[in-house]
Amino acid sequence: LIEVKTSLLDNMIGVGDMVLLEPLSENSFIQNLKNRFDHDEIYTYIGTVVISINPYQSLPIYTADKVEEYRNRNFYELNPHIYALADEAYRSLRDQDKDQCILITGESGAGKTEASKLVMSYVAAVCGKGQEVNKVKEQLLQSNPVLEAFGNAKTVRNDNSSRFGKYMDIEFDFKGDPLGGVISNYLLEKSRVVKQPRGERNFHIFYQLLSGASDDLLKRLKLERDVSKYNYLSLDSAVVSDLDDGANFRIIMDAMKTVCFMDNEVQSVLELVAAVMKLGNIEFKSESRVNGFDESRVEDNNDLKEICELLGIEQIVLERAFSSRTLEAKQEKVSTTLNVAQAYYARDALAKNLYSRLFSWLVTRINESIKAQTKQSKKVMGVLDIYGFEIFENNSFEQFIINYCNEKLQQIFIDLTLHEEQEEYIREGIEWKNIEYFNNAVICDLIENNNKGILAMLDDECLRPGTVTDETFLDKLNTVCAGHHHFESRHCTNSQFLTDHTLPHNCFRIQHYAGKVLYCVEGFVDKNNDLLYRDLSQAMYKARHPLIKLLFPEGDPSKMNLKRPPTAGFQFRASVGTLMKNLQTKNPNYIRCIKPNDKKAARIFTETLVRHQVRYLGLMENVRVRRAGYAFRQLYKPCLERYKMLCQQTWPHWRGPAREGVEMLLNSLQVPKEEFCYGCSKIFIRNPKTLFALEKKRRE
Ligand code: ATP
Ligand code: MG
Repeated sequence: LIEVKTSLLDNMIGVGDMVLLEPLSENSFIQNLKNRFDHDEIYTYIGTVVISINPYQSLPIYTADKVEEYRNRNFYELNPHIYALADEAYRSLRDQDKDQCILITGESGAGKTEASKLVMSYVAAVCGKGQEVNKVKEQLLQSNPVLEAFGNAKTVRNDNSSRFGKYMDIEFDFKGDPLGGVISNYLLEKSRVVKQPRGERNFHIFYQLLSGASDDLLKRLKLERDVSKYNYLSLDSAVVSDLDDGANFRIIMDAMKTVCFMDNEVQSVLELVAAVMKLGNIEFKSESRVNGFDESRVEDNNDLKEICELLGIEQIVLERAFSSRTLEAKQEKVSTTLNVAQAYYARDALAKNLYSRLFSWLVTRINESIKAQTKQSKKVMGVLDIYGFEIFENNSFEQFIINYCNEKLQQIFIDLTLHEEQEEYIREGIEWKNIEYFNNAVICDLIENNNKGILAMLDDECLRPGTVTDETFLDKLNTVCAGHHHFESRHCTNSQFLTDHTLPHNCFRIQHYAGKVLYCVEGFVDKNNDLLYRDLSQAMYKARHPLIKLLFPEGDPSKMNLKRPPTAGFQFRASVGTLMKNLQTKNPNYIRCIKPNDKKAARIFTETLVRHQVRYLGLMENVRVRRAGYAFRQLYKPCLERYKMLCQQTWPHWRGPAREGVEMLLNSLQVPKEEFCYGCSKIFIRNPKTLFALEKKRRE
């Protein structure tokens, strides 16, 4: 475990480890990033943290030769690279039996998903070989394209934006050979299924299917090739220049085979995708009834008919579920008719639920395939790739959830980096000096507090009897959150700012760690409730289609009295809580991704954008903490080995304890006393310049 790094590698552009940057300021930090980025050096360290800047071009740095170069080498020996982090994590898992997690953060488009794949492919390349092991590796790697097809979409920020959170545990045996894995998925942005913001697309799979399927397959799925035929598919950006939907479709079909989907399962999945697409084409018209109420009717039932054929549902059952709904109150059933707006609402709710449940089923199914086939104890490497922090023009429940998750990740970063640092000082018996940093725990609390948190209040509203609307929810926030430093709305003054009268009536604003975000409350109650009329889930349960029945277990009439399912917010909070607990048991490795420009373009480094990210990611604090007191530390033995040539008494051999050798060395070199400190097992050096001087002497 050698921890000293030098920036004195001969071909280094700028400074490879920000800890060594002199003088250290935000400007010099950014200039160093820029300098390196301009020379295609996209990775830079802060100690063991890797900063990665999206190059938006394919660089020749991920070859098999590179893998060999970084294999079994120490961090400081080579140019900064994500492979060095992967290697370090893998080796300490294999050799020191420490479970690892790779935490990848950064905003949308910063390169998190690519980074996670690079880590996985590196580990796959360096770990054991052999027929069985290779099969496991192939399956683990091939689960990526499948999930991306169904869970990623083109957004204004990123042509391949992850619209779900993903955490994957890769399991290894004692030799470090992969045994299998477990994937957890977090809240898919299902509203995208029925509506996309301008300039964005629906999930990739819809376009891939239409573009890549054979005529025969399309016919079986009762689909037409033309994207414009489907209301749910946005047109303005159907073709994305650097995405080849047709070719990707074939890649996904192959990947599904590798992950052991049977042909009939693939067929079932595609039938559901087709059904979702066609649901969007069902139109309703209003029909007046004698009692004066408007009742909705399906306008032209060819689409309905075909959906029913695809899913094996009696047409009349689905038709009825779109025109009336049964309310059950105290053993009594009351049927009410749906008006046209309600029918559209029901249709969209069905499409969203169908798709998101299909997605969760895919994850479950992949997990079955990649599950480790052994009971022996496992070592685990977790890779977390979750949607990045988002600030849009219109931010809704989805952004709120996504940003909450990012707050939690930031918190765990703060906790672990500072905590780790502090622990090390205590372990080594060295005095710890506090560093000022922004702790975002207050924002997490604003959102997740059990009583007064925004999510809890949203749940309260959703479960409260009486008329509940997004406005009543906002009223509640205005009362409870008034005065919170990170909460603002038009009707509520916070203690830092005056009431902002320019804020729209139906919005609240949160000062997140990464910036202010204005959330529009419209849809919060509905999305949190996430209810599907029971008539629809019962209709789905009655389907003969093998998969769809599985997806709607609550439609089983014998399970009528099931309690209300937990709200979307509640479930998310619970799963994020579990995730955080899990991460805290592992040794963290950080990749902090930075997006260099807003144009998805190579070679452009927009300083203001980068500066903003450097600030909110807390990278300067990170360097400062790392340098607080002592910028460097190194175990006595390797330190002595490296510098013993600089002193007559220690060269060529020092027979005593390594610590005394180092003392001898530093004394003879007349390094000022205040420049270093002896820990229990390591020497701590205060100033990077001291180290530079040693390195310089060594080279001379
Ligand atoms: P989101 O939060 O929206 O999912 P993300 O952080 O996962 O965003 P990625 O999908 O990983 O972002 O990256 C966006 C795009 O940037 C990629 O599709 C790819 O074109 C490019 N890119 C990212 N990292 C690299 C890299 N290391 N080399 C080359 N291109 C890259
Ligand atoms: Mg992503």
